[in-house]
Amino acid sequence: MSALEQNLDKLNGYLAAFKATGIPNRIAGNDTAGGGGVFQSTSPIDKSVICDVAHGTAGDIDTAAKAAADAFPEWRNMPATQRRKILIKVAEGIEARAEEIALCECWDTGQAYRFMSKAALRGAENFRYFADQVVQARDGQHLKSPTLMNVTSRVPIGPVGVITPWNTPFMLSTWKIAPALASGCTVVHKPAESSPLTARLLIEIAEQAGLPPGVLNAVNGFGEEAGKALCEHPLIKAIAFVGESRTGSLITKQGADTLKRNHLELGGKNPVIVFDDADLERALDAVIFMIYSINGERCTSSSRLLVQDTIQQEFEARLIERVKNIKVGHPLDPATEVGPLINEEHYNKVTSYFKIAKEDNATIAAGGEPIGDQGYFVQPTLFTNANNQMRVAREEIFGPVLTSIPFTTEEQALSIANDTNYGLTGYVWTNDLTRALRFTDALEAGMIWVNSENVRHLPTPFGGVKSSGIGRDGGDWSFEFYMEQKHIGFATGQHKITRLGAQ
Ligand code: NAD
Repeated sequence: MSALEQNLDKLNGYLAAFKATGIPNRIAGNDTAGGGGVFQSTSPIDKSVICDVAHGTAGDIDTAAKAAADAFPEWRNMPATQRRKILIKVAEGIEARAEEIALCECWDTGQAYRFMSKAALRGAENFRYFADQVVQARDGQHLKSPTLMNVTSRVPIGPVGVITPWNTPFMLSTWKIAPALASGCTVVHKPAESSPLTARLLIEIAEQAGLPPGVLNAVNGFGEEAGKALCEHPLIKAIAFVGESRTGSLITKQGADTLKRNHLELGGKNPVIVFDDADLERALDAVIFMIYSINGERCTSSSRLLVQDTIQQEFEARLIERVKNIKVGHPLDPATEVGPLINEEHYNKVTSYFKIAKEDNATIAAGGEPIGDQGYFVQPTLFTNANNQMRVAREEIFGPVLTSIPFTTEEQALSIANDTNYGLTGYVWTNDLTRALRFTDALEAGMIWVNSENVRHLPTPFGGVKSSGIGRDGGDWSFEFYMEQKHIGFATGQHKITRLGAQ
């Protein structure tokens, strides 16, 4: 049996449970049907139906929010060391089922196994990392004044909503849910309708690890219905959201009446800037990796290449050769580098840019065509002869599609890089140290890597500026979001209290 056949064989075993029972909602430790009946989840690999999924409604969100509110006092008050033990067990449970998670994720999303096997383990790492911070998460400061001993502490904000997208759903869910639980919050999770499988596995693993019923609840369904109801629910104190910038704006509006605290991780049109003094071998590898890995369905992807005109010809020639060589195929084949796009709507969006590029007079230097009609496969694509005013340089395509734009001077590169509504990441390739310092100082992005691809280090702040988001995750920044600061002032003596109404 080939590696692909072996993976398919294992996957069929894992999918049997989903096919038998579908994916119900999970509320207060119980499987519950969706108020709207069911919808079907399909695989982008061959468009086949995977299973029925509960179609959650505002009523289901209400039940889940009440369950999360009921479970909150016990979870908040549980000794930190005990909560820590449960979260570590969740991490162990994820590790034990990492292969199942990865294979189901590939089948559900079209992402290649080589990346999803790592993403599953990263999910475990997220739980381990935040579990290790549990004990000190509530610690505060003491800020002595002449008359008072002021102390601060942090308390969990309450039940929170987590709304996640479909691009790497398991990893992103853990990225939000792990710090929320570590903070002492309870959670209602609304997974993306296009990729519901691994959210179900996560809740199974969490409950088996000893998470009390109601601490983590999952309601499946659509954004404009279940997602909206979650944002509007008065018992939900905050929304951690990952998705499109347009949806981020809706999340803010929907939460206005209940004064929701929102953390928004949104889209990007991230530049990678290659100067002619850079290590061009490494730059080439990183440029390719950061747009063609994870099917280009990656918020931090470097979708705009700004290349210095002195090296443009040679760099683009080598890029074209490599892009044409990228292995598109079945996501469960370990050799596959790019799999199919998530669904028909997204496939139509990505392929529409092939036409838009031509209309704008960019050159399609590689790819630019769909592949077959069995699933939502497209060729890895490179546009050259482009400028930053073209739609392919301004709009988030969210597929394996790169737009290359030349520049002459550092000032020009900076101005092109910043001429975008987005500001999530930037990648700078130069061996000139002072230029790197100057350039990164002026580049408008939440996260910048110099002479490196995106290498995530969990204690560092993750998030964007401009239309790429509000707020930061990672390290203590996550606790800042899921917790409230509390100040208590203790009088240390008999300081004078101004007397009103006294003779
Ligand atoms: P999306 O915004 O369409 O959907 C994300 C989630 O929001 C889904 O669960 C969806 O059901 C829900 N939703 C949709 N409308 C809603 C509403 N009105 N109220 C509440 N919830 C609603 O995004 P997507 O297409 O699933 O994901 C791709 C996008 O996510 C891209 O723009 C990508 O850049 C972004 N993303 C950002 C990050 C980051 O960290 N900045 C990471 C991954 C993906």
